[in-house]
Amino acid sequence: ATPTSIMVGTGKGAENGILIKGADSLELAHKIKAIVLDKTGTLTQGKPIVTNYITVDGIADNNELNILGIAAAIEENSEHPLAEAIVNYAKSQGIVNNFPKVENFEAMGGQGVQGKIEGKLVQIGTQKWLEKLGVNTKQLVSQAREWENQAKTTPWIAIDGEIKGLFAIADAVKPSSIEAVKKLKKMGLEVIMLTGDNQQTAQAIADEVGIYHVFAEVRPDEKANKIKEIQQSQGKIVAMVGDGINDAPALAQADVGMAIGTGTDVAMSASDITLISGDLQGIVTAIELSRATMKNIR
Ligand code: ADP
Ligand code: MG
Repeated sequence: ATPTSIMVGTGKGAENGILIKGADSLELAHKIKAIVLDKTGTLTQGKPIVTNYITVDGIADNNELNILGIAAAIEENSEHPLAEAIVNYAKSQGIVNNFPKVENFEAMGGQGVQGKIEGKLVQIGTQKWLEKLGVNTKQLVSQAREWENQAKTTPWIAIDGEIKGLFAIADAVKPSSIEAVKKLKKMGLEVIMLTGDNQQTAQAIADEVGIYHVFAEVRPDEKANKIKEIQQSQGKIVAMVGDGINDAPALAQADVGMAIGTGTDVAMSASDITLISGDLQGIVTAIELSRATMKNIR
């Protein structure tokens, strides 16, 4: 494209809340064949809220509150949005600022968090991760499946290798997601979801927004490889849309990386395009701009 048509395209983008970094991405976007969308914070609002919580032992001798306090104490050390949801929930249940002391806190990327409280090992995270560590999750499985089918994320809590409780965390789909996915499919693009969340929850969100291709339980360090696979499988030009630190390698690997402006700085600097408001309609507009820009010079 000519410098003038690029300037016009970039300017129109800015007017519509779409920041385009270089001429390359504007020239490439009309060739995109597949769009990979992160779930949390991209398709959803990224404001998770605890809606349900149960413990294995029930409420005898105030166990529910005890375990909730332990969970909140661990999660206070995490910057994950799910962690904030759990801490806020504990506070709403009257557990305020007297959390027990946590030692050896560790975040296991895309799987969960762990730490020691009074010498006991506390682990909060995915069922897959806890099962891999040898924790038997059977007691709460049917409850988890029910919540997951409601599109809720279900962090599990284990203490010293024994399952103790389960959270259900809801994160509503952005109103713009459903319409944007519909338009992208109409434009002939393959629309794919990529998430670290479990299969059931991912599928429930995918159903809600009309996505048929779902890659779930993908760890942060595997997300970029998934993009590479999609690029190589059919020689496709692939766009990735994401918001998190976890998404940065995948955003960089994609032919066109698009960051959600309400997300992390890391995602934005790894991307070619930023959708300032986080409205997914911006993906459609960016591709249309690219099409118009390239048409102008032919
Ligand atoms: P996403 O791809 O949806 O952004 P992540 O890769 O960050 O998800 O995390 C994947 C899963 O790991 C979450 O759905 C959650 O079950 C678990 N997890 C990660 N961090 C935490 C945490 N701080 N507390 C509880 N669970 C967590
Ligand atoms: Mg995300």
